[in-house]
Amino acid sequence: MRIPAILNLKKQVLSFEVFPPKTWANYESVQTAVDGIASLSPDFISVTYGAGGGTSDFTVDIVNRIKNFGITPLAHLSCISSTKEQVLMVLGRLKEMGIKNILALRGDIPQNFSGNLQYKYASDLVKEIADFGGFCIGGACYPEGHPESATLFSDIEHLKMKVDLGCDFLTTQMFFDNDLYYSFLSKVRDAGIYVPIIAGIMPVTNAAQIKRMMALSGGTLPTRFKRIIDKFGEKPSAMMQAGIAYATEQIIDLYANGVRAVHVYSMNKPEIAKKIKDNLCDIL
Ligand code: FAD
Repeated sequence: MRIPAILNLKKQVLSFEVFPPKTWANYESVQTAVDGIASLSPDFISVTYGAGGGTSDFTVDIVNRIKNFGITPLAHLSCISSTKEQVLMVLGRLKEMGIKNILALRGDIPQNFSGNLQYKYASDLVKEIADFGGFCIGGACYPEGHPESATLFSDIEHLKMKVDLGCDFLTTQMFFDNDLYYSFLSKVRDAGIYVPIIAGIMPVTNAAQIKRMMALSGGTLPTRFKRIIDKFGEKPSAMMQAGIAYATEQIIDLYANGVRAVHVYSMNKPEIAKKIKDNLCDIL
């Protein structure tokens, strides 16, 4: 089913994310994680795409596995270091498999990259997929602005161009203060972007990892959350409990404020996805 149709069907949508294996060596463990997450029956599951496209076959395989589970998959596809031929090949395979949804991404620019850029921005890929036809297209957006953008305003201008080229929905970068999402939503609507904007929520279970991720993405951690990390970051089980509770609270607040769709960055961790789903069992 197309993602916007799922959003129309249900008052509160909850989806999860998995990432593909990097090599055959961890293929089986990823499959087990994917099966665990699929068994929770989320409304859809997204599958990330390795930067550089080197693991594209794995992404396609995992997407197919999710589909065979009877769950709607959302296949990520990044373009910055891909040729048109490679992109068309992946699109052809996804179409053959009956996949309906693609999240079109630029990908992070590899260090010392000197390749022949056939796609400079995600919007080039959105146009390619739209021209190919037959897919529902999503894009990424950034409530605090993309780190390469001079201002949030210019980032939203680029976002509008991306949506106008064919995005049917957007998913946000993770955020830890819901007010950032609400304020972003109002700016985006003022800019004339009316597609659904799925809120991306990350249950933090590893303090060092989130500090690294936030430094890279330019995102901020609210003081309230920093205190949690300072207090429990050194004790993994306590950090996991606190991270799940914090994410659950964010999700409940989003639903309470009328947000229809929340995407959980579940990072191949079925046990965390399950705890979040259990916490929301009477809400969903
Ligand atoms: P774009 O939309 O192209 O934006 C990138 C930058 O270029 C922004 O600063 C934007 O303002 C600017 N820009 C856009 N158009 C123009 C223009 N015409 N002129 C000037 N500037 C412009 N990465 C992966 O490798 N694999 C994944 O599976 C993956 N999944 C993700 C899922 C989500 C929900 C999110 C939020 C990110 C994901 N990423 C993934 C990371 C993403 O690839 C990076 O954040 C990347 O740096 C930007 O990708 P984008 O698609 O947002 O790019």
